[in-house]
Amino acid sequence: KEEMKYNFSDIIAQFSIGADAFELVPFGSGHINDTYRVKTPANGRDYLLQKINDYVFKDVDGLMNNMLYVTNHLKQKVAKAGGDPDKEVLTLIPCNNGLYYCRDAEGGYWRMTTFLHNTKSYDLVTTGNQAYQGGMAFGRFQYLLCDMSAAMLVDTIPNFLNIEFRLQQLADAIRHNAAGRLEKVKPEVDFLLSRADGMRDILQWGRAGILPLRITHNDTKFNNILLDEHDNIQCVIDLDTVMPGYVAYDFGDAIRSIISTAAEDEANLDAIQLNIPLFEEFTKGYLNQTISFLSEQELKSLIKGVLLLPYMQAVRFLTDYLNGDVYYKIHSPNHNLQRTLAQMQLLKMLELNKVKLTAIIEREWFGSYNNRVLSPD
Ligand code: ADP
Ligand code: MG
Ligand code: MG
Repeated sequence: KEEMKYNFSDIIAQFSIGADAFELVPFGSGHINDTYRVKTPANGRDYLLQKINDYVFKDVDGLMNNMLYVTNHLKQKVAKAGGDPDKEVLTLIPCNNGLYYCRDAEGGYWRMTTFLHNTKSYDLVTTGNQAYQGGMAFGRFQYLLCDMSAAMLVDTIPNFLNIEFRLQQLADAIRHNAAGRLEKVKPEVDFLLSRADGMRDILQWGRAGILPLRITHNDTKFNNILLDEHDNIQCVIDLDTVMPGYVAYDFGDAIRSIISTAAEDEANLDAIQLNIPLFEEFTKGYLNQTISFLSEQELKSLIKGVLLLPYMQAVRFLTDYLNGDVYYKIHSPNHNLQRTLAQMQLLKMLELNKVKLTAIIEREWFGSYNNRVLSPD
């Protein structure tokens, strides 16, 4: 059935892979792009073909430029460090048009990378080692890009993690009350608005020059890392949202999914508890890779990111609920409210444990720092 959806022969013929016989398999569990594995028996290599979601990403040309700059930089750094750039960094396949993406007859956008064999990705973190590897992967990603200017990249989704913009969207939703649901969610609105001021700190520190604008991944879910057969990190993938940002965003969003014992939309709020050992392991892995370049202010901003990301998600879910469920796909009438409540509950738990979590970051921070200065090289 997938084969009927697009003219894959015409699309694949536009990529310089030197093979015209192929077999196509829908692949992966991503929610944004349509992904296919392309097997080419003739040259014995597989490729990953993706239809880029141009509803979410309006500037595909800018996005693909970002991806090219970033993968080139990563490859140079990995090679210098003695690693294998073909395994540790995504490799874009050029098209006959000289670009790294092409269009289909309907105007859709397509790109191709080499397929990384003998790798796996997990949707959920279940073990301490996985959390540690996750921290290492996203920490190393930031480290390898810390000497590249953020000004090279465009915002592939403008204002994506801009909390002031998200709060403005919530204010608009409250004003319009399009779905007539405002009365019902007064306590949730109050809960979120009462915390708005403190949530602007990262943005304000950034504007004041206290935090540097770096290159961040901005979608630090665990299934955006490929692990090798020994469960060690191999490659960070899903580079669509790589753009200028603050390091605490990546840290906070990774923790948001790793630290909660329940799903993002858990209906039973009592089931939302913190898995602090996984937080510790992620933090350990992350600081192992980033302690050499993070400033003291950035280290202090990490805990703010941990609170900000669930907060921002709650703001976005509640906004969509007030607007009548126009952005997120829903599976029940109150799904967006349920998601809002779950993120609020996670935030409450994080607030209750803030001192403890901060102490863990500081302990690992000084621990990594001491390891670094004491090491003979
Ligand atoms: P989405 O934005 O839809 O999440 P991803 O780029 O994350 O798309 O790709 C979806 C899935 O495809 C990933 O979770 C991973 O399992 C797999 N994948 C992506 N790139 C590769 C690759 N180069 N080699 C092998 N598997 C890959
Ligand atoms: Mg993905
Ligand atoms: Mg993605």
